[in-house]
Amino acid sequence: MEHFSKERTLVMVKPDGVQRSLIGEIIKRYERMGLKLVAMKMLLPTEDHIEKHYTLDPNWMRITGEKTIEGYKKKGQQPPSEDPLEITKVVLANLKKYMTSGPVVAMVWQGAHAVKISRKIVGGTEPLSSDVGTIRGDFVLDSYQMSDMDGRAVRNLIHASGSPEEAENEIKHWFADNEIIGYRLVQEQILYDVNIDGILE
Ligand code: ADP
Ligand code: MG
Repeated sequence: MEHFSKERTLVMVKPDGVQRSLIGEIIKRYERMGLKLVAMKMLLPTEDHIEKHYTLDPNWMRITGEKTIEGYKKKGQQPPSEDPLEITKVVLANLKKYMTSGPVVAMVWQGAHAVKISRKIVGGTEPLSSDVGTIRGDFVLDSYQMSDMDGRAVRNLIHASGSPEEAENEIKHWFADNEIIGYRLVQEQILYDVNIDGILE
């Protein structure tokens, strides 16, 4: 098994995150965790690229629909449909508009448990219920109800892969091999080396 420190995740500052001038704030939160930035670019994605990104995982349509229904029911509200796939069909169409509305910043971050740590600092999908202290909980205020009422995708500033397998597929979808840089960061010695020596003179 590969060492934990080699795990990587795909993170993207979405168009609203760029417009809110949060690129630096988001990068700062990843850096201070101890994760290592190994690839980064700004680009304007196409609708086709976005559709492929969200359907790389064949279960995404079902899971996202189910999560939305649960989000409504937890608040004692009626979801727009009881059929998860019907909900996600609309979400995907709206996501294509949202994610191509302006430039995004795509990044690959590497480090121990990169995927889970990243989801933790990003927070839950719906900003209304994302935990305080997370990126989505601290910097934006959208809800499923409001986005449905206005016929658009939930604006939640950032994307982060949901599992290590999803991450590997997404990284390949957004970056060529030669755009990802293998290098050593000095702080990794403190985070990962078995012997913490060579500090004292
Ligand atoms: P996450 O980004 O937290 O992994 P999903 O993969 O389930 O969430 O959904 C992808 C994106 O689609 C979300 O970040 C959000 O922008 C949008 N989205 C998800 N569910 C809904 C919904 N019910 N209504 C509007 N937009 C949604
Ligand atoms: Mg997801």
